[in-house]
Amino acid sequence: MAEKQEEPRPLHELVPPVTLIAKGCDNDQQNQGNLLAAKQSPAFLPTGGVLSHCLTKRGWRLMLDCTQHAVGVKFDVDGVWMDVDPYDRQTGDGIFAVLKKIANLNVQDRKSRQEGSFGVNFKDRKFNCTLTTQGVPTGERAMITLVPKKSRFEKILDLGIREKARQQLKSFLDQDQGFVLFSAAPGNGLSTLWSLGIDTSDRFVRDFVSLEEKSAPEDEIINVGPVFFDASAGESPATILPQILLKEPDAFVVPNLFDAESVNSLCRQVNSEGKLVISQIQARDAAEALVRVVQQYPEAAQEFAKAITVVVNSRLIRKLCVKCKQAYQPAPQLLQKLGIPPGRVQKLYKEFTPPPPEELVDEKGNPIEIETCRACSGIGYRGRTGIFEILTVGDEVRNVLAGGQASADAIRKAARAAGHRSMQEEGILLVAQGITSLPELQRVLKQA
Ligand SMILES: [Zn+2]
Repeated sequence: MAEKQEEPRPLHELVPPVTLIAKGCDNDQQNQGNLLAAKQSPAFLPTGGVLSHCLTKRGWRLMLDCTQHAVGVKFDVDGVWMDVDPYDRQTGDGIFAVLKKIANLNVQDRKSRQEGSFGVNFKDRKFNCTLTTQGVPTGERAMITLVPKKSRFEKILDLGIREKARQQLKSFLDQDQGFVLFSAAPGNGLSTLWSLGIDTSDRFVRDFVSLEEKSAPEDEIINVGPVFFDASAGESPATILPQILLKEPDAFVVPNLFDAESVNSLCRQVNSEGKLVISQIQARDAAEALVRVVQQYPEAAQEFAKAITVVVNSRLIRKLCVKCKQAYQPAPQLLQKLGIPPGRVQKLYKEFTPPPPEELVDEKGNPIEIETCRACSGIGYRGRTGIFEILTVGDEVRNVLAGGQASADAIRKAARAAGHRSMQEEGILLVAQGITSLPELQRVLKQA
């Protein structure tokens, strides 16, 4: 007699439930209407299922991609894409329709690029989700980002900065005079570094004003008052500066340097009036951040070279899973290559790798199964921390910057001569402490 085969349970019954929240309409009633319509679809529960699956794996981005017969699914976990089981076309197409409905997008239009948002409640957390859909030859592609409403980070130490480095940064932010520049590559947490970095400064006895573009207001930082300029009316930080100066602020927080005239005016506030300026720019390391400012605003290079005091750069790196990481004894040549003094480190760690198949048998030759690590779902990494580079700008670097043709390499060289510790050296500290692995460090240092 043939054994009765049990149907496997669908994914959405195996993961924790989520609540979907429709958005994008002018009023709640219309949003509710969209949600009700979406609920009629047989793909409504699978839609919640795939979002829950992503959050369960600690993913924060999700990509759905149509092929001829299936809809592929990928999760971005700690900055690395991970493939999961695809859906059949019918279910997958239904998921596209449900997502678009709850984001108030045009479900019928499967060609144009469309952008919208919706909400997800998962366990006790609320997420704002953005949805981008775009037609592809075989159907559609969707990218969803899941952003928690409440950040997991409350202070800059939560980002992984060393206490000594934090103190160093704070000392620059607490000086009356100077120019502090925050930087990170795209996707490396610049906005979090920016708000938590400024938050470490002492603002109770000093007046901080933030110069923000009207159409792009920043998240509020306690004790930093915003002043807005209207770029569409020809205003810039430089044009509104005179009226702000009447209030005699001590420090200017400038999320966007905007134009050379503004950079010049702000740097003159540092160089002639003894004020503090705090700004940010996207860059892969501190040297590149400096070069980008003088390349984008060449007319301001001289004043900037005089004003800049410190550059902070951060890069996110995955942490080895503490439950399954494996220790190994590094060869002395490797330690030497990494610049770790002999005797300092007995072992390094790497991600868990299962033994070769021929070793996966018991004495009788029967296969044995290795259980997947539950903490990291077998990825070997869990969560991320930051590598922080703090470049104190001294005369050597200043001279390179002021010289016109500044290159990132020339700045790195000058900084090294002055005893600066590079991003790579900061990363090696994390490897030596067993927080991350060498291959992971190499991966993030290579990232564009
Ligand atoms: Zn693990």
